Amino acid sequence: MLRSEDRSASSLWPSTLPPFTLARATLSDFPIALPSIDPPPPLAATEFSGFQGKPSAPTSEPEPEPDAPGSDRYELTLRLERGDTIEKMLADIDVPEADRKQIATKLHALLKKRRLAVGETIELDLQTIPEQPDAPRVLSLSVRPQPERAYIITRRDDGSYTGEEKVYKVSPRIVRVEGVRAGSLQQSGVKLGAPSAAMIEFIRALSYDVDFQRELKEGQKFTVLLEQLVTSDGMVTHPGRLLAGELRLLKRTVTVIRFRPQGGAEGFFNPNGESVVRSFLRTPMDASRITSRFGMREHPILGFSALHAGVDFAAPPGTPILAAGAGKVVMAGPNGGYGLYVKLQHTRDIGTAYAHMSRLGPGIKPGVAVRQGQVIGFVGSTGMSTGPHLHYEFHRGGRAVNPLAQKFAMRATVTGKDAARFNTRVKQYTAQLKNAPVVAENKPAKSAKPSTSRESTGTEVARSN
Ligand SMILES: [Zn+2]
Repeated sequence: MLRSEDRSASSLWPSTLPPFTLARATLSDFPIALPSIDPPPPLAATEFSGFQGKPSAPTSEPEPEPDAPGSDRYELTLRLERGDTIEKMLADIDVPEADRKQIATKLHALLKKRRLAVGETIELDLQTIPEQPDAPRVLSLSVRPQPERAYIITRRDDGSYTGEEKVYKVSPRIVRVEGVRAGSLQQSGVKLGAPSAAMIEFIRALSYDVDFQRELKEGQKFTVLLEQLVTSDGMVTHPGRLLAGELRLLKRTVTVIRFRPQGGAEGFFNPNGESVVRSFLRTPMDASRITSRFGMREHPILGFSALHAGVDFAAPPGTPILAAGAGKVVMAGPNGGYGLYVKLQHTRDIGTAYAHMSRLGPGIKPGVAVRQGQVIGFVGSTGMSTGPHLHYEFHRGGRAVNPLAQKFAMRATVTGKDAARFNTRVKQYTAQLKNAPVVAENKPAKSAKPSTSRESTGTEVARSN
């Protein structure tokens, strides 16, 4: 079913238009109950006595003028429902067939092959004329399927219709959202007008460096810098892409800056130019504890002192083991005392190895590429092992080194030609984090759809069919 939505009374009856003169007889036959004309309240006897043909209630329509120009203009906003067409919609409000055919043809020509989405808002400028009080005349029809593009069909004096495409320029606008954490960091930002996606991106960028369990507290101040896209008439087409963010922790402030190094992927960096993303996971597993560190030790099975060439993480059998970094599988299978074993090559001189697995991850075999965090196997106790654990090795230049000592060396950094550009960006964003205009509080960024950004009096009236 189709539904119509009124606009506010002031826009329904703009002061620039001829005064309202629609006769009551016409109104009662009109298929749409215009919301600005309230249904008459039940009449009391006293009201009959005082009735002099002049409305007394403020909600009643303006006084009819005896010498009315024969036109009554009004606006109407309709939503396209499933299975609807413009023509059917116009037929439903009794627009004469010749007019609706012309309008539909003109609109289709403008839209080319594009289809209007269900829920699309159609704005109509209508006129009731005395000769045909039940069939409104469409003065104009407009639809804006994208914020930057509107299609307008207008009636000419000769009764024909003309179509026009109106394009609005879209440009970026930098705003900030500043607040204190109350509840989740994401919700705190969203409440203040930051898009959820930008907050999630912010949290992800922080997560490599911030220990959310220990360092995050209520009341901590945060600021995010967003780039919105706005049309020339002020409609927000993109609620905001995260450019930078700042979180004040107890003892330090963490700042992340969006940057794309030349020839590289866009990402977040700290102001020193280090990527927030570590090339290698700290721990190639969730939920584990270190049971044996890298270095010389008494071997638990062999009984003599030897170099423990990796780190042992205790975890329940079957716990997924993740690729510490992106790379290529160079070994996958039984490997003596190592048991079921996988070795990954990440760069020419960096590799990681995983031992004592119960089984391999899906598709893991020599030669295949893996992503960081991909499951390459499962914790077991195969080979020379005293219990379920992961033995994890880090190889550099063919030698096993301490994996836990590698974490800071593994960040990508901004270097060379990028450095000057990055430093300028850091200065710009750091300043804007303090002085960019603040997004209106408690007002989520306007939707790209005009239908949701328009004020409505809340009265919805079903169209008759
Ligand atoms: Zn070990």
